[in-house]
Amino acid sequence: MTDHSRLTFEGAADLLASGGATSADLVRALFNRIDAVDKTVCAYTWLDREQAVRDAEAADTLRASGGGGRYTGVPIAVKDVLNVKDQPCTCGSRILEGYTAPYDATVIRRLKDAGVVICGRVNMDEFAMGSSNENSAFGPVRNPWQPDHVPGGSSGGSAAAVAADEAIAALGSDTGGSIRQPASFCGCVGLKPSYGRVSRYGLTAYASSLDQIGPITKTVRDAAALLGLIAGHDSADSTSVQAETAGIGDDLGKGIKGMKLGLPREYFIDGMDPDVEARVRDAVEVCRGLGAEIVDVSLPRTKYAVGTYYIIATAEASANLARFDGVRYGARVEGDDPISMYGATRAAGFGSEVKRRIILGTYVLSSGYYDAYYLRAQKVRTLIREDFDHAFQSCDAILTPVAPTAAYRLGENTDDPLKMYLGDIFTVTANLAGICGLSVPCGFTSAHLPVGLQILGPAFRENTILRVGHTYEQATDWHTRRAMP
Ligand code: GLN
Repeated sequence: MTDHSRLTFEGAADLLASGGATSADLVRALFNRIDAVDKTVCAYTWLDREQAVRDAEAADTLRASGGGGRYTGVPIAVKDVLNVKDQPCTCGSRILEGYTAPYDATVIRRLKDAGVVICGRVNMDEFAMGSSNENSAFGPVRNPWQPDHVPGGSSGGSAAAVAADEAIAALGSDTGGSIRQPASFCGCVGLKPSYGRVSRYGLTAYASSLDQIGPITKTVRDAAALLGLIAGHDSADSTSVQAETAGIGDDLGKGIKGMKLGLPREYFIDGMDPDVEARVRDAVEVCRGLGAEIVDVSLPRTKYAVGTYYIIATAEASANLARFDGVRYGARVEGDDPISMYGATRAAGFGSEVKRRIILGTYVLSSGYYDAYYLRAQKVRTLIREDFDHAFQSCDAILTPVAPTAAYRLGENTDDPLKMYLGDIFTVTANLAGICGLSVPCGFTSAHLPVGLQILGPAFRENTILRVGHTYEQATDWHTRRAMP
């Protein structure tokens, strides 16, 4: 008998359409898989099995009556940062213990309208701040390929669940790499859409000028399908753009013959893992073999990206997290007066990385330092965007590593926040520039850990990077390797 937990999103849709299985079958298969492997992986923070089965049965009834659409009844997991009506939304934080979402995020509403079943909520770094999932208040997620290694972060639960076949697909969020980096560490596909492509209404905000929601999947085709479901303008998020969403994924089969793919010299740096570099360079050769022209490009301000990102992201985080004060949001810890109550609530509710970022962000916004840090970071951000504008004049998309290393051991970098931040060097640039980026599996290190190829494209050219990613993926078999038996 086929194991339905191994299905892709598109494969599940095909199977449901053919009558080969019901949605309830798929959901039960996932729960069996979760029972078998989640003790090891620790991806899920919350499941309501009965509700998921009821939702699946409702989808089956709709389908049986001739209603619904292609994806009616396909189950997915969502990062614990997205509001789903009547579900908890912890954001990986103690401070949100006891909170139940009163409404659906726009992406969730769109998935539900398409009949997609939410099968559970998956773990993450607290408030999406982190690169290893070790900042979750609910314990680290483990990498399905090697459980003593991190899955990446902050959407580590999303990537690990997909890699371990505990989810057919998942949603994550990406502020500085949190979809692409865990996807690469876990051997999945991860898509960060362009800024403005997907509504963030109902996403708990981390850094609002950088945040985007996107899919983590088993194939590029699945990422395109999910983007097609969640993208589009939403009056509830004024940053969402009126861009055409019809036709997302339509270019997948067009090949890359004659396309120009840029290779930025600043993305192959001293100190990066030689296996990672070798796998990415191999992938570049595969693309060349498929008919792409490889051109050298330069993104000279890359060296400023991490510093710029950690000023802007922390500044915005310090403002966004002010709402967790024990009054508007957050589990209150009483004090003698309101000020001591705020202090006690935030001291008890936030973990140390979140506190570090709030302190950093408050500092860079403070009078006297604003011009020296925040304003200057905004100017450098503009220069980073100009680097990309310039590079995209000579190429259609850019190929880079996703991260300088593959997954590392749990605890290996936790004592050194700066080292952790430097690992974001290749992903934060896309968020600063507002462009789109895709991570696709491109092989393994000699230690048998997955490596990801990053494909960056101009804003709102998701079709271009999906086309490159799909063409590469179909010429290789990395995406078919499974992390756990
Ligand atoms: N690792 C980066 C950070 O810690 C990115 C996180 C994210 O994209 N949410 O901020």
